[in-house]
Amino acid sequence: MRAMVLERQAPCEENPLVLRELPVPEPADDEVLVRVEACGVCHTDLHIVEGELPPHRLPLILGHQIVGRVVACGPKVTGISPGERVGTPWLFSVCGECSFCRRGRENLCSKARFTGYDVDGGYAEYFLARKDSVYPLPEGYESPEVAPLLCGGVIGYRAYRATETQKGDILALFGFGSSAHLVLQMGLYEGKEIFVFTRSPHHRELARKLGASFVGGAEDDPPSPFHAAIVFAPSGFLIRRALEHLAPGGKVVAAGIYATPIPEIPYELLYRERVIQSVANSTRQDVRELLEMAGRYRFRIFCEIYPLEEANEVLKKLKNGQVQASAVLVP
Ligand SMILES: [Zn+2]
Ligand SMILES: [Zn+2]
Repeated sequence: MRAMVLERQAPCEENPLVLRELPVPEPADDEVLVRVEACGVCHTDLHIVEGELPPHRLPLILGHQIVGRVVACGPKVTGISPGERVGTPWLFSVCGECSFCRRGRENLCSKARFTGYDVDGGYAEYFLARKDSVYPLPEGYESPEVAPLLCGGVIGYRAYRATETQKGDILALFGFGSSAHLVLQMGLYEGKEIFVFTRSPHHRELARKLGASFVGGAEDDPPSPFHAAIVFAPSGFLIRRALEHLAPGGKVVAAGIYATPIPEIPYELLYRERVIQSVANSTRQDVRELLEMAGRYRFRIFCEIYPLEEANEVLKKLKNGQVQASAVLVP
C-alpha cells in the first residue's frame, strides 16, 4: 500500500513525509483492517511533524480523522462487518482502569494512546484499527465531509456540551475555524443564538451566512452579554475578553490544547459564579453523541480535498494559514 511516512521530525518546508510502498497490515484477533477513503489534516499533525510534540514512535504514519471501509476483521471482532463505513478519531485507546477512566473521564487517562501518534494513522491506503476505536458513521455525507467531524467536530462538541447552555441562550465563539463552524450549527439546531468574534473577513462572511446574529472582531462590543463562550483561538487575551461580556453564572470554555498566558483578571469579572474551564481530548461517548447528532441534523461541512501524495504541500498550507476550510487527503 502507498503511505506518507514521517521518518524524522523536521520543518514541513523540508518535505518530511516520504511516499513509501508498504505491505498491507494483517488484522490481529481484535483488530479491523480499513481501506481509507479520506483522512483529515489537523494542526496536531503539523505539531508532530515539526517537533512541537515529542515523537512517540518513528517512523510514523500520521492522520487521526480517518474514514474508510472495513475490508477484514480479526476473529474476535463482533458487531462490525466488511463493507461497513467506519471512522476513527484521535483517541485510540485508554487503560480503562485508572480513576479518570472509572469516572467516565477517559479523556484525562494518562495511559491514553492516540491515532496517528502512538499507532499508525490514516495518511495511507489502509489503516489498522482496534475494534473499539472504530465508529459507524451517519448516512448522507460523502467520506471527505465526515473526516472533519472526527477531530474538530468532536472537540467542538465536547466544548459545546461543557458550556451547559440551554435553548434560547446566547453562545459566543471566539475564533472561527473548522471546529467553530460546526459548533455554530450545533447551537442553532438546538435553539441558541450565536455571536462570532473573528479577525478574518472570509470567516466573518461564513459566520453570517451560517446564521450568526452578531459577527465582529475581539475589539468590538456585542449587543448584549452572552451566557457562555468558547475560545478556539490560542489566545489568553481572548479568554479574558470573553469574561468581560459574560453573564453571571456563565462559563468561558477554552477549546485549545495551547494558549498564550491569560492577562490579569480583576476579581469582579469572575465574581457572580462565572467559570473558566478548559477541555482536553474527548471521550468515546463524545464521539458517539456527535456522530448521532450529525445523523439527526445535516451539518454543512466545508472541505478542501487533496491527493494523499500532496500531504507535505497541505501541511505547508496549513502552517501558512492558506487552508480556508478543512483539508482532507484522499488516497
Ligand atoms: Zn486533530
Ligand atoms: Zn485510564
